[in-house]
Amino acid sequence: MRRHLARLLAHLAALAALAATPALSAGRAQAADQWNPPAHLVQPLNEVWRHVESTYPDLYGFRNYGWDQIMANRGSVHYCVRWESDAPVSAALRDRIHAALKKQFGKWMSALVENGKGHNAWPYPTVRVNVVGWAVKNRSTLQWTDDSVDIHTGILDSGGAPQCAPDCGRFFHQDGDYSRCPGGAARHYDQSLWLTKGFQGGAGGDWGQRLGQEYFTGALNQEDIHIYLHEVGHTFGLDDFYDWTPTGQCCFLMKAGSATRITEFDTWMLRDFWRHLKSRYGY
Ligand SMILES: [Zn+2]
Repeated sequence: MRRHLARLLAHLAALAALAATPALSAGRAQAADQWNPPAHLVQPLNEVWRHVESTYPDLYGFRNYGWDQIMANRGSVHYCVRWESDAPVSAALRDRIHAALKKQFGKWMSALVENGKGHNAWPYPTVRVNVVGWAVKNRSTLQWTDDSVDIHTGILDSGGAPQCAPDCGRFFHQDGDYSRCPGGAARHYDQSLWLTKGFQGGAGGDWGQRLGQEYFTGALNQEDIHIYLHEVGHTFGLDDFYDWTPTGQCCFLMKAGSATRITEFDTWMLRDFWRHLKSRYGY
């Protein structure tokens, strides 16, 4: 019932916005595309986009990219930390993990900013990262007593790994209905930083990023936590390059093992994704 009401209200709000701001809508639709990559990147970027389009038929229909999440939140992303490990976490370690997560996520977001402004009408020069929850099997693993972050205890996925309450997760509620989440929409999470003891390599997608717990906690002081950065690239739709290489590009983050930071080419691939998706948000 609440679900239907929420949809109806959203629909009415959209109609009201349409009626109230025709000039703004028209202006956005007519805005020139500010696409100005360096000349030497034009061909490889075109190759990448053709490859993406041919590989992912649902490319333009998929609605849970990092892009969609930031747009839904109007400039922020909410995280759950899944601690799939029995290694104890002090308040100090928790805070270092939060700080590293914000810094590293911010590196990708900085790629969308030029001279302090959003590149090609990107509306959020800064994107806030809020860690709203931690998931763990046993509460005693987390050694803090303050209530700065929600703690989800003993909620396990089908593989037995702790997760934050699905009622609060966007992956499970892409319609934005968090009415069953105890804290409501304000305490929902879009992505998980899933840290698994003994896990090698990484995985990433709309649901977040999965890395070795030892790897991530061991890399907190690194300037670039490069496996995390690579997986965040997937969250924003960027592809792997296991079987081909764009013309003239030997080494970049999304070509695993060839770079350990976001390169100029990675930056422009992210911007190209925004270029191709932005019209669906009215930009
Ligand atoms: Zn990958």
